Amino acid sequence: MRFDIVTLFPAIFEGYMTQGLLGKAIQRELVQIHQHDLRDWAPQTTHKPVDDKPFGGGPGMLIQVEPTVNCVEAVEKKADQSARRILLTPQGKRFDQRMAEDFATSGRLMLLCGRYEGFDQRVTDILEPEEVSIGDFVLNGGEVAAMVIVDAVVRLLPGVLGDENSSIDDSFSRGNRLLEFPQYTRPREFRGHAVPDVLTSGDHKAIAAWREQQSLQRTKQRRSDLLRDE
Ligand code: SAM
Repeated sequence: MRFDIVTLFPAIFEGYMTQGLLGKAIQRELVQIHQHDLRDWAPQTTHKPVDDKPFGGGPGMLIQVEPTVNCVEAVEKKADQSARRILLTPQGKRFDQRMAEDFATSGRLMLLCGRYEGFDQRVTDILEPEEVSIGDFVLNGGEVAAMVIVDAVVRLLPGVLGDENSSIDDSFSRGNRLLEFPQYTRPREFRGHAVPDVLTSGDHKAIAAWREQQSLQRTKQRRSDLLRDE
């Protein structure tokens, strides 16, 4: 799968792309990430401006329409393929596991990261991206939001996880859309806290039933809204 990230701060992604599952997925060529510096599409003055004051007044600056549209169109033309365009904004549709699953089938995503007060409205009017938010709070820029989306999508791609089943049991996932059951590893006892007997019983049917019941109970206690969905 290919991700194109349009940003004013491409260096933010560098360390992140070499680490953990994502680093391995890139090494194994399951995932490609290309960052595109918006300033490369700015008017070629000494300053290379990409932002300006909002018409009508108000605080802050906006990212301009011209470099953004030119950048997206040039990147798509070079790849000879249009991408599914995602514009990161706190005003967008809330990102969740279902959306991650949908994105994971897309083949190619273009993520547009805003800064300052965001993008000129005409970026949305012309490029018609899907507008996506990672939650009801305001970040300084879209780069962290882009990383959240890349991270959640990459773990759903075939071959990325050692065991394909681990993403099925994950909280919110297509296995049951509930929270995952509690998990334990060695030692069997620590400061009087023992691992539940059923997990060391070797009885796989009983373990599966216990996990299902725990998953349901945890979801009822912490996120009853998930039981009302669907
Ligand atoms: N003035 C904008 C508003 O009130 O909607 C917020 C701009 S924010 C300071 C700058 C950029 O950070 C946005 O253009 C967007 O790309 C990104 N951003 C901030 N919060 C976000 C969120 N919750 N989800 C996705 N992107 C976000």
